[in-house]
Amino acid sequence: MSTPALPLELDALIGWSDQLTEEEREVRATTRRWVDGHAQPHIVDDFEAGTFRRSHVKELAQLGLLGAPLPAEYGCAAVSNVAYGLACLELERCDSGLRSFVSVQTSLAMYAIWRFGSEEQRRRWLPKMATGDVVGCFGLTEPDHGSNPAGMAARCRRDGDGWVLGGTKMWITNAQIADVAVFWARESGGDGRILGFVVERGTAGFSAADIPHKLSMRASHTGSLHCDEVRVPEAARLPGAAGLVAPLACLENARYGVAFGVLGAGMDCFERARTYSRDRRQFGVPLAAKQLVQAKLADMAADLVEGSLLALHAGRLKDKGQLSSVQVSVLKRQNCRKALRIAREARGLLGANGIVVDYGVVRHMVNLESTYTYEGTDEVHTLAIGRALTGENAF
Ligand SMILES: Cc1cc2nc3c(=O)[nH]c(=O)nc-3n(C[C@H](O)[C@H](O)[C@H](O)COP(=O)(O)OP(=O)(O)OC[C@H]3O[C@@H](n4cnc5c(N)ncnc54)[C@H](O)[C@@H]3O)c2cc1C
Repeated sequence: MSTPALPLELDALIGWSDQLTEEEREVRATTRRWVDGHAQPHIVDDFEAGTFRRSHVKELAQLGLLGAPLPAEYGCAAVSNVAYGLACLELERCDSGLRSFVSVQTSLAMYAIWRFGSEEQRRRWLPKMATGDVVGCFGLTEPDHGSNPAGMAARCRRDGDGWVLGGTKMWITNAQIADVAVFWARESGGDGRILGFVVERGTAGFSAADIPHKLSMRASHTGSLHCDEVRVPEAARLPGAAGLVAPLACLENARYGVAFGVLGAGMDCFERARTYSRDRRQFGVPLAAKQLVQAKLADMAADLVEGSLLALHAGRLKDKGQLSSVQVSVLKRQNCRKALRIAREARGLLGANGIVVDYGVVRHMVNLESTYTYEGTDEVHTLAIGRALTGENAF
């Protein structure tokens, strides 16, 4: 057995390179090159300014990352879910907001149209969303209904050959920049089904507003959507969606990318903490020479190994169509927990510098607070796992 080079690369410790296809390695490397050249140099400024750089949209599209795992016939790259997960990881190595843009465009808005839309809707929207000419968002959460979307107050009612929508959605990624919103509402009367609509920006009565004063996901747009007697044709309704199961299926799909992506933030925190502890001297030696510091780095690295192997395993299952809902809950819960724990630990290891945004880790830390909450909170996934294990619903 050969002695590994010191310091050991995290990828060598994970030991997954051989298990990736050439395409998966290529997607990862290409994404990383773009991130290093185009996103990383601006991220501190963007985070402090509270903005998402519009020029990123077309560039991400050129990399084939918008709708990446969706079929080529709709202009998408049709890569494996593992390749897409690795791209999410590399984007989030820079910032969770950057990955959130791609996740929402790909795994929520485009996925909803692909999975529940008509063939006409797919052909109308997906190619333009893949090229970044159309940005999408996904409106499920409401001011009074987050973890329990079944209680949603948004309503839709039949009106002649179309529909009228009313209601407010809250905490919607990309809301302010979206050209189309997938808007979920409960049907008034009848059996009260939850239906999905593709609402275009500029439709009378439809508006989006910024949610100001966020301290997390500052390099990502988060806003509200408001429908006030919005009239849309029947052609705007997603015909395959009837019931809460439809938006929940989209969320389940998106959680996979979140759980893969957060590893990137965790890896960046680990690398920054490792470099800092090797450079910074206290008590006459590098911090890295102290056992308590090594124990923290060892815990962080071990968490990243476990999280990466779990994500790869989940990706392979997803590519075979075998990834179950409860497995996604385990993946999302564990990896978001791990990444947040790593970011907090890294923040501590950097001492006072750890609270300065230029040092990177505190930005990841506050972003990861959002990943802990969105796409099903930590508690919601715990309850989903508990329900699957016991047969008892404790929600
Ligand atoms: C940055 C960001 C971006 C987002 N983007 C989107 C988006 O694009 N589209 C979208 O639709 N939504 C989006 N969300 C909303 C997100 O999905 C919700 O915030 C999430 O579902 C939680 O809902 P809530 O915030 O209303 O919290 P609540 O549901 O009010 O929960 C508050 C607390 O109570 C706990 N809790 C709730 N129910 C139970 C229970 N039964 N037992 C024990 N504890 C419970 C929760 O775990 C949590 O800790 C985004 C959120 C953030 C922060």
